[in-house]
Amino acid sequence: MPSRCDDGAVRVGLDRRAFLACAGGLATAALTSGSAQTPGAKTRLILLGTGGGPRPRKANAASAQVIVIDGAAYVIDCGDGVARQLVSAGVPLATLRHVFITHQHSDHTADYGNLIWLGWTAGLRTRVDTWGPPPLERMTRLFFEMNAADIETRIADEGRVPLAPLVHAHEVTAAGLVFQDEHVKVTAALVRHPPVVPSFGYRFDAADRSIVISGDTAPSDALIALARGADVLVHDTLYPAGVDRLVASVANAATLKQSILSHHTTAEDAGRVAKAAGVKTLVLSHLVPPDDPAITDQMWIDAARIHFRGTIVVGKDLLEL
Ligand SMILES: [Zn+2]
Repeated sequence: MPSRCDDGAVRVGLDRRAFLACAGGLATAALTSGSAQTPGAKTRLILLGTGGGPRPRKANAASAQVIVIDGAAYVIDCGDGVARQLVSAGVPLATLRHVFITHQHSDHTADYGNLIWLGWTAGLRTRVDTWGPPPLERMTRLFFEMNAADIETRIADEGRVPLAPLVHAHEVTAAGLVFQDEHVKVTAALVRHPPVVPSFGYRFDAADRSIVISGDTAPSDALIALARGADVLVHDTLYPAGVDRLVASVANAATLKQSILSHHTTAEDAGRVAKAAGVKTLVLSHLVPPDDPAITDQMWIDAARIHFRGTIVVGKDLLEL
């Protein structure tokens, strides 16, 4: 079936590639050039979950991204379904090397342990380093303790390597350099996501491109500084008019609305941040509301476009950039 992009162009189907063509077309309409994907980039960025909030949904998975460099997978955030999303993206679970958690909210952490545990059943037998705010070390230890019956059975029954010794959790408590290896340097900024402290955004500087993941944040000067000149900024995004509909069905509507508005960034402000940081591509992700059909891709883009003239992409699960 032909699909109509929001710029009026008709394209056949609306798979990931076609969507990117739409998004690129929109950018191109306002710019002289525009493809979200860096030509020849060896460092791959795949959006695994682009909806905001922990409620399981049909429309999209909870927050997660993967950066793949020379076959090593660096996963950022572990929302519901992250292991399955990696498989759907064609990234072997056994290539998992590092996991980064931006902050301790369940839409970013629910499948943290499950990712490693299920990856191990899929053949993961090499070291995994994990990074994130406290209590990451305790979470890691208790997760293996909680699932010891299965883990010990599989070691004895299936001849698997012991799992817990593979996993090295590192608690991140301050901004600055997180770590560096032969592929990438990772730097953190403290962002504004009260009452969750600390909450981090992470920057990945690889040989061929730089990618910043905002985590959840209200507009943040620290994030602007972190993202300065980056190729890609994946930013938390809110569409204010949709929040009333989002909270309408819950008993704690007023409190939830205030919470959402106070610690996220509107699409318009995400454009403002992208402009201030001078990034090339802004990816709107952690969409709030995550599944409101009344908010079209064009509406998200138009809001960010008020301030930002670079390429704008509305995040879709399994979209590669
Ligand atoms: Zn959050």
